[in-house]
Amino acid sequence: MHLKSLTVKGFKSFASATTMRLEPGITCVVGPNGSGKSNVVDAIAWVLGEQGAKALRGGKMEDVIFAGTAGRAPLGRAEVTLTIDNTDGALPIDYTEVSITRRMFRSGESEYEINGNGCRLLDIQELLSDSGIGREMHIIVGQGRLDSMLHAKPEDRRAFIEEAAGVLKHRKRKEKAIRK
Ligand code: ATP
Ligand code: MG
Repeated sequence: MHLKSLTVKGFKSFASATTMRLEPGITCVVGPNGSGKSNVVDAIAWVLGEQGAKALRGGKMEDVIFAGTAGRAPLGRAEVTLTIDNTDGALPIDYTEVSITRRMFRSGESEYEINGNGCRLLDIQELLSDSGIGREMHIIVGQGRLDSMLHAKPEDRRAFIEEAAGVLKHRKRKEKAIRK
């Protein structure tokens, strides 16, 4: 099993649909500063179900949607598809190729698909759970992430830990409820 291709559309700096083919072995992404290399890694984390905006280097989840540039209007949705080669049957599904899609609209609504069929995030997590990929199984160490954690203010460092533990969204909800 290996990652076969990644298609991004309206995700961060990738306004137009862009497909990257991946081969077995090590993949290197090269390019000038700010050209979108880290955005490629963010796209993989996002399509696999990442729920934390901070882990995707944004302030809120909507920041993953193409925000527009001087010459191009913002878009209303982000979409990422990750295609996995399953010829060895590592994923418990009867397909030699498995595509996972995540789509998000500015309204905050999200959609997930396995091979084009709508599903829940839970279905994706279950499909990947024994395969070694997925939210808890792979490790993405973002550029400058260790540095920024070490140099962060105590309250920001706490936010990193809370997000990793999955409690940040509950604290935000609580704060919102108290404000009302
Ligand atoms: P470096 O070599 O400095 O690490 P990089 O190739 O990793 O650079 P990224 O961090 O992937 O670069 O990309 C940053 C670019 O993505 C910035 O130009 C930023 O404006 C753009 N970007 C991020 N989010 C969005 C968005 N929602 N809409 C449009 N552009 C975005
Ligand atoms: Mg980078």
